[in-house]
Amino acid sequence: MKVALIGNPNSGKTSLFNKLTGLNQKVGNWPGVTIEKKEGKLLKTEINVVDLPGVYSLSPFSDEEKVSREYLLNEKPDLVINVIDSTVLERSLYLTSQLLDIGINIVIALNMNDLLEKKGIELDEEKLSKELGVSVLKVSAKSGYGIDELVKIVSKQSFKNYAKDSKIYSKVLEKELNFVQEELNLDNRFLAVEALTNGNANYRSNLILEKLYKTDAMQIVASQKYDYIASVRDRCLKTQNKKETISDKLDKIILNRWLAIPIFAVLMSLIYVFAVGAVGKSAGELISELVKSFSVFVQKKLTQIGASNWAVSLVVNGVFAGVGSVISFVPELVVIFFCISILETSGYMARVSFVFDRLFRSFGLSGKSLVPFIVGTGCSVPAISLAKTIENKAEREMTAICAPFVPCSAKLPIISLFAGFFFPNNSGLVTASLYFLSIAMILISCLIMKKLFYKNQVSSFVLELPEYKLPSAKYVSRDVFDKTKDFVSRAGTIIVFCSLIVWFLSSFSWNFKFGCEIEKSILAWLGNCFSWVFYPIIGELNWAVSVSALQGLIAKEQVVSSLSVIAGLSEGEVAGSVFSSEIFSGFSKASAYAFVAFNLFSAPCVASIGAMRNELKSTKKTIFAILFQIALAWVVSSLIFLIGSLGE
Ligand code: GDP
Ligand code: MG
Repeated sequence: MKVALIGNPNSGKTSLFNKLTGLNQKVGNWPGVTIEKKEGKLLKTEINVVDLPGVYSLSPFSDEEKVSREYLLNEKPDLVINVIDSTVLERSLYLTSQLLDIGINIVIALNMNDLLEKKGIELDEEKLSKELGVSVLKVSAKSGYGIDELVKIVSKQSFKNYAKDSKIYSKVLEKELNFVQEELNLDNRFLAVEALTNGNANYRSNLILEKLYKTDAMQIVASQKYDYIASVRDRCLKTQNKKETISDKLDKIILNRWLAIPIFAVLMSLIYVFAVGAVGKSAGELISELVKSFSVFVQKKLTQIGASNWAVSLVVNGVFAGVGSVISFVPELVVIFFCISILETSGYMARVSFVFDRLFRSFGLSGKSLVPFIVGTGCSVPAISLAKTIENKAEREMTAICAPFVPCSAKLPIISLFAGFFFPNNSGLVTASLYFLSIAMILISCLIMKKLFYKNQVSSFVLELPEYKLPSAKYVSRDVFDKTKDFVSRAGTIIVFCSLIVWFLSSFSWNFKFGCEIEKSILAWLGNCFSWVFYPIIGELNWAVSVSALQGLIAKEQVVSSLSVIAGLSEGEVAGSVFSSEIFSGFSKASAYAFVAFNLFSAPCVASIGAMRNELKSTKKTIFAILFQIALAWVVSSLIFLIGSLGE
């Protein structure tokens, strides 16, 4: 007789294995991979027991999954002991549902029951056994509780045999699964589910199901599994209120089906209203004033020591205008970095991604993408790289392509500059609205990509739910400091460099004479070449806006710097407000919002494009992604301008 232990990583398989086999074990490797294989004999018997690698599901993505999957499908053990960490029943039952589909004998060992009891939750194992149709038994691999009983059940083979009537799927789906299984001559239900939901499936059954449920087979199966697991959990878990932990109380509100997303929206809005509206306005103006007085001072000094006109202009209109415009946004960025870091380290973000899981699933993503998106509020580069943590290929690629839509710290100056001037009383809310617009764009893009390129892809399922923690002051301050330092040092390097180039191109004409009228500068000539592209977005042909937007490719802050440098030069004075300059006086509320949206969604900076190339692992796909982003940005911002202009 062959018995296999299977369960999620850290569910206590190895501990249980050690208890079941005593010292009688053999340790080796699974063929072809460096994953440890432990085999042994059940205490005082000749029954072979093997400890399979920990997995969350039997999809063939990771090596662990491949090993466990092949063992179950090919070696056909007589019995699997499904080790479940009782504290995460719902997560664990996904794997169980796949085992039920495979149709082998299962004994469920409910491990970590001690921890569950500490939380004041009671798990009714008899009910669970009845719901699932398999034997269920509480054990503790740590204290040894229930082990003797488990050994007895296994050696006497006194477990419930595989029950054919699964309650997971609806009658219609059940019928079609049976049909597929017979048609393709498959060994079990599990393979039938895979065949039906695999990307290229196009069986009669797919058509029937899709017509009935108005969605693809993948979604149908996933949602029925979800519902089944949730209903089993609800029936078998009982909370004793007196022992409810703070975490549970928080979850009742934060993870509530109806409240979770509104709460998230309000929290994010508050952060932006506070950062951009309150802090940004006062502290930002203060810094702007300081930079301005300092550059007036430097201008005087330089003129006194007899510096030539162009040298003064280079320092004042090039460097100070360019860098100063970006630096004044540091206070609001610090506030945003701080608030998001708190939400992240407290465990809130991870838990709320559980709620987003359901929403995202309809768009071909899962809750796993939320963390990269949140990280994207700092910088798109790490956000894109975080996509690596998503096993599912389609989901991973869509996350990498969409992560740059999230307003990163470099885009915030653009938003804040325009929101502050055109919506002075609601700058925070307008900023927040762009944040939500970016979420909408992410979902819409994924829907488009899913329909066009990633048909019927399986989204990955499971999420870890870490407990709430008090955020560590040390971690948060380090995080905020690092991100701020990064932003400031970019202002000191790449922004200085680009501002100088903008200064040069806008101070010289094609015959390289300094001090030409800005309209005759090289930059104006360049901008005029493609200002038509931006006509539908801003409603005028404006070379200066066009060249500024283009510089977003180098770094998004540079858009603001470029606007400031050009404004300063055209006014012939130390940079004041961008919009007091004649060149930028054509903006309306609608075109301002549309222009910001364009900058938000169009191709990200080169660093992010590099990161995207890394994740997509294909130059062709990367080029496609960039074209997709630009096209989307152009269409959406043109629409915004069109609709916005109607109302003005
Ligand atoms: P595996 O990854 O599934 O092989 O899990 P391990 O056997 O390595 O166990 C993971 C951790 O959970 C170890 O630190 C164990 O000591 C602990 N653990 C295992 N069973 C129990 C249990 O019943 N109660 C508690 N509190 N901890 C357990
Ligand atoms: Mg282990």
